[in-house]
Amino acid sequence: MMLNIDLHCHSTVSDGLLTPTQLVEHAAARGVDILALTDHDDVSGLAEARAMAAERNITLINGVEISVDWRGQTLHIVGLGIDPEHPDLACGLSSIRNGRMVRARNIATQLDKIGIHGSFEGASRNAGEGHLLGRMHFARFLVQQGHARDVKAVFKKYLVKGKPGYAPHQWAPLSDAVGWIRASGGRAVIAHPGRYKLSRKAMDELLEEFRALGGEAIEVITGSHTPEQSMQFARHSQRLGLLASRGSDFHGPGESYFDLGRMPALPAICRPVWHDWNEAIQAG
Ligand code: AMP
Ligand code: MN
Ligand code: MN
Ligand code: MN
Repeated sequence: MMLNIDLHCHSTVSDGLLTPTQLVEHAAARGVDILALTDHDDVSGLAEARAMAAERNITLINGVEISVDWRGQTLHIVGLGIDPEHPDLACGLSSIRNGRMVRARNIATQLDKIGIHGSFEGASRNAGEGHLLGRMHFARFLVQQGHARDVKAVFKKYLVKGKPGYAPHQWAPLSDAVGWIRASGGRAVIAHPGRYKLSRKAMDELLEEFRALGGEAIEVITGSHTPEQSMQFARHSQRLGLLASRGSDFHGPGESYFDLGRMPALPAICRPVWHDWNEAIQAG
């Protein structure tokens, strides 16, 4: 039997639409066997997800997606099998979340300048009490206010570099993010590499640097890749001896390219990031 493994998704703890409980129920209904919850810069949904996973007979992998700055570019590094209580990781994530509050104020100031007011409060309402603030919460506010048809359109028009609602931000260094993941016993994975605007040379340098820092895997199958990009990164992983991961990057019904667990399998040339997790998983 082939196990259905989805190692990248988001709950309301970051910018997803489903609570950790709802997310795991949704995964179970889609036939997912092994699920990693990978909220942005926050691990506080894992305990709730784990409780529901036990009820639905799903293996839950502790995950996180860390925001990183590399040569002025924002990258995302997924950590799999982390210890959410590890002090280096917890402290690093907490400092990124503090930075997110500062950036959110800056985004709101930018939007004020073009006559869109109340976005900080609106985004905060969308995020919910005590949850981190991301661009997705601003995007949903802008859709609610009628500034664009859907969140995709909002990003294009307002929230990316060169647009009026963009605020530059310094995330964690790549070496720190990989270091925290490793210190906490996890495996570092470059998320959706096809999304980064890098030359071939810069991509090679990134992959080499990531590997030298102790990074172990590349996300080959993700909602952000075309089939050609998946093959391209499958070959990168093979060439560099890096493992390969598979994740939907599901944020919620209607907001994601792939539903949970509903993505293509890893190309056969890949060595899965889960190859040595344990006997039950390897049997897949
Ligand atoms: P942040 O980490 O707050 O800067 O927000 C990044 C998140 O915004 C990503 O994880 C996606 O959920 C979402 N996002 C980024 N770019 C786009 C886009 N072009 N269309 C839709 N969602 C996007
Ligand atoms: Mn997101
Ligand atoms: Mn991401
Ligand atoms: Mn993600």
